[in-house]
Amino acid sequence: MKKKKFNLTTRIMLSLILGAIVGSILYFLPASSFKTDILVNGIFYIVGNGFIRMMQMLVVPLVFVSIVCGSAAIGDTKTLGKVGVRSLIFYLCTTAIAVVVAIGVANIINPGIGVKMANIVKTATSATSSTKSVSFAETILNIIPTNPIESLSNGTMLQIIFFALLLGIILAKLGDRVDSVSQFFNQWNTIMMEMTNIIMLVAPIGVFALIAKTFATLGFDMFLPMLKYMGSVVGGLGIHCIVVYMALLKIFTGLNPVRFIKKFFPVMTFAFSTATSNATIPLSIETLEKKVGVSKKISSFTIPLGATINMDGTAIMQGVAVVFTAQLFNINLSVADYLTVIATATLASVGTAGVPSVGLITLSMVFSSVGLPVEGIAYIMGIDRILDMLRTAVNITGDAVCTTIVAHQNKALNKEVFYQE
Ligand code: ASP
Repeated sequence: MKKKKFNLTTRIMLSLILGAIVGSILYFLPASSFKTDILVNGIFYIVGNGFIRMMQMLVVPLVFVSIVCGSAAIGDTKTLGKVGVRSLIFYLCTTAIAVVVAIGVANIINPGIGVKMANIVKTATSATSSTKSVSFAETILNIIPTNPIESLSNGTMLQIIFFALLLGIILAKLGDRVDSVSQFFNQWNTIMMEMTNIIMLVAPIGVFALIAKTFATLGFDMFLPMLKYMGSVVGGLGIHCIVVYMALLKIFTGLNPVRFIKKFFPVMTFAFSTATSNATIPLSIETLEKKVGVSKKISSFTIPLGATINMDGTAIMQGVAVVFTAQLFNINLSVADYLTVIATATLASVGTAGVPSVGLITLSMVFSSVGLPVEGIAYIMGIDRILDMLRTAVNITGDAVCTTIVAHQNKALNKEVFYQE
């Protein structure tokens, strides 16, 4: 059993490397319709996106039934409330810290000074046109579904979480009287986990196709002019992931951070190749249970919540992008501006959906809050895909660290599992 899991992890890693190599070779080969139409936009596109779609297919049913079962298992609303409030505070605080780290790193590297304007693509419209500003009151109200079936069919995560929580609490309250319904949900839960396992078997092929397509399309050339910007984002992500998360994990749970990263690494790899927090939910819950020892009672609630509202990696990109654009346009930011950025980027993280590129869209909200030109987004669009992949890995690691801490505080962390091979 263990051996099989290890093999899958290794296979995913190998696919990642192989995909990067094959993609890079293709990038340097002369253009041909075989390369572009048949391989990159044909086979790689279908296989890669087919895999993402399969993972996405799992998300709504899995999140729904697992939250129903999770909250029914926690039982009393007091514990559930405690778990909810604790994770919310943790999620918001780590995001605010992430923005501070990003602003700090960007002010040391100064990515916007000395960027050659000629190398830059100037098309901001597509990134910004779809931004809608929703008032705070609306955001809160939108958590309550007016039609839960519609929320399920549209995949509106917070509404699904709200309805499922309520359902689970009521199942627990009614106990034996609704035994067969509880059992129905528990059996569905088993089915969804099995479906996840089966789909994960094709993960190496999916990851290979996704990475090969990314490298074949982007290559490396265009990264160079923006290297400092990328360096700042990567630096911020690295510090946040390695220093902040690991310190929190050690302080709050006493677990060995290196071991934690080793165990969670396959999930990070998966998030990296898909750039989609949402699609990572099933694998995250499973890995936390089987390898870290976190009870599904907690993770089935906090992981989908985190994938929806907790985007520390995205907040880091946004913090760096603010400093970068301000420097590019020679705009001085005051301390008050920076505080505004910390607040808006934290809120933007809540509003960023766990799918590719949305962080770039909510970035315009952060820019507008301090009067930065929104066309600044155009400068970073070209290289955003690779950063999206990296920040998604950090986004979901934040969810997992928080979940582990909250589980520990609620006596739902089995350290024996964590220290097993
Ligand atoms: N791709 C990110 C995620 O799914 C969101 C973003 O930053 O665009 O977590």
